[in-house]
Amino acid sequence: MFVKEVVLDGFKSYRVKTKVGEFDPHFNAITGLNGSGKSNILDAICFVLGITSMNVVRCKSLADCIYVGQGDKLHKASVSIVLDNKDKKKSPPGQRHYDEIIVSRTVQRNGECRYYINKTGATKKAVTDLFESVQLNVNNPNFMIMQGKITKVVNMKPKEILHMIEETVGATLYQAKREKAEIE
Ligand code: ATP
Ligand code: MG
Repeated sequence: MFVKEVVLDGFKSYRVKTKVGEFDPHFNAITGLNGSGKSNILDAICFVLGITSMNVVRCKSLADCIYVGQGDKLHKASVSIVLDNKDKKKSPPGQRHYDEIIVSRTVQRNGECRYYINKTGATKKAVTDLFESVQLNVNNPNFMIMQGKITKVVNMKPKEILHMIEETVGATLYQAKREKAEIE
């Protein structure tokens, strides 16, 4: 499963519905002038994945993610992530019959949020369970390496990098369980 496309509508600087993609399954680079909205695309992905830290999405509250500026005042922001699900071996449970999974989230001015899986209303838990089943946890501190943290990562020793990756994919948890099981 990989992110094929991100659709932003009223989210941060994206006032009109904008499709970003199609992405490569392995590596993508977003380029553009300073302030042109590159990081806003990453913020939008974190928004759908259920981010809890407002620092990561660089705003005080999720309602701040709704576009403000010229034109009619918008009351809602919405973001959809279109996931390619053709590789059934890596599909989340219960989603194997879909070649494409669309996960969306909206936020209104009063801060109320709604989640959707394949355009049908879903709970936040259903969305986080879906992503966690493929080892994606946006609230893991290593999920995203922010601009300021790059130099720290570049200077890390190989063992430290390995530990960070293990922590990110949740392997540390299994390692602790395995060590405990070996003792018992
Ligand atoms: P850099 O290269 O400097 O990192 P960037 O391409 O990552 O820039 P972003 O941080 O994605 O740029 O976008 C910043 C722009 O988004 C700013 O111009 C800011 O005013 C705008 N912006 C952020 N929130 C909103 C909002 N709610 N409504 C309208 N514009 C917004
Ligand atoms: Mg940026």
